[in-house]
Amino acid sequence: MTSTHQQMIARRKKLLGAAYELFYQDPIHLVRGEGVWLFDAQGRKYLDMYNNVAHVGHCHPHVVEAVSKQIATLNTHTRYLHDNVLDYAERLSGKFPGELDTTMFTCTGSEANELALRIARTCTGNTGIIVTDYAYHGNTKAIFEISTADIPRDEIPPYVATVPSPDTYRGEFQGADAGERYATYVQDAVDELAIRGVKPAAFVIDTIDSCSGVVQPPTGYLKRVAEIIREAGGLFIADEVQPGFGRTGNHFWGYQAEDLIPDIVTMGKPMGGGHPIAAVVCRRDLVEKFAGQSDYFNTFGGNPVSCAAALAVLDVIEQEDLQENARVVGEHIVKGLRRLAIKHPCIGDIRGTGFFIAVDLVTDPASRNPDSQLAKSMVNQLKDNGILIGSIGPYANILKLRPPMVFSQENADYMLEIFDHVLCQGTSD
Ligand code: PMP
Repeated sequence: MTSTHQQMIARRKKLLGAAYELFYQDPIHLVRGEGVWLFDAQGRKYLDMYNNVAHVGHCHPHVVEAVSKQIATLNTHTRYLHDNVLDYAERLSGKFPGELDTTMFTCTGSEANELALRIARTCTGNTGIIVTDYAYHGNTKAIFEISTADIPRDEIPPYVATVPSPDTYRGEFQGADAGERYATYVQDAVDELAIRGVKPAAFVIDTIDSCSGVVQPPTGYLKRVAEIIREAGGLFIADEVQPGFGRTGNHFWGYQAEDLIPDIVTMGKPMGGGHPIAAVVCRRDLVEKFAGQSDYFNTFGGNPVSCAAALAVLDVIEQEDLQENARVVGEHIVKGLRRLAIKHPCIGDIRGTGFFIAVDLVTDPASRNPDSQLAKSMVNQLKDNGILIGSIGPYANILKLRPPMVFSQENADYMLEIFDHVLCQGTSD
């Protein structure tokens, strides 16, 4: 580690305090981004396979231009009329079936989920929330309570019930009926809440359950769960903060893997291509009921500059056909990884679609025991070899590949070559 890095780390600790985390044993100091590439202060470049916020690539010229023009013209808030706000809401509702026609803006995914819970609780009159047991939905108080990956078990409040993530690799159910069987846990959670005197307001799910290890809900799961929660008087909330905006390749939203219309959809991260904008999209009748009891205003949420960024992101996704790019190049990555898995038995499973791919590292394929040490080592070694990825899951043994949507087949081949090289080195610490 250079002395400049050591000084910066000490300065950060002094200025930002103890709660802030840094990636990598030897953290990197990034100064510039372009497309799928990031550059550090020493001029080294890194292929970015981690940052989903820079959805259409770092500093995409169309997004930069749109934001620059708008910030040089006017920035206010949603209490004035502005075309950007309306144009964006209109374009966004075009990405949903007719029922989901109302957009409310926030700045972060946490705020979007917080608002979704408020709407659900107001509209149902209930308080209970059901979530998967290793989920992350954000950092506000109400959302921390349902972020079961972070909150200590004994602090989960009685109005929150958890269900196992529908993991068909390491979980209890793996066959063709896994979706149906995992969904029965949601009925159990409804019953458990009833024993505690609580009725459910909502079931909330990250539609590709990222924190649980990039778990793709098995066929039928989401649809059946939506039926169960509605029968119990609650709403189905799809958290699209990570899978949304075409990342899964096959669909624009993760929930579309099933024939299902959520009651509320939340989104954020990739929406503004790096500019903070997030939203709740839901049914008009829900917002009307909510508005009967509560006004809504968010100073920065949906301001004209943020909406300019978000409009430009949608333009690029459509003009550059990035959802299809994610599908095609994502398939290419998965095929390449499957070839590597034949050579490297530490790769227990490869799952995901589009640009949301997980490599599950195991000590041996038969036991499927998670190899957390290897994952940690690989994340650091890949960084040393110029590739940025992250690890995830309850055991942090799963490599998460989630590149900007402009990632090309050539980038994929380069990544696979380095991946092979690093796998051949094994654990380095
Ligand atoms: N939901 C999911 C699924 C997320 O991954 C995140 C962020 N990692 C959030 C919500 C919260 O978003 P934000 O950090 O913008 O508040």
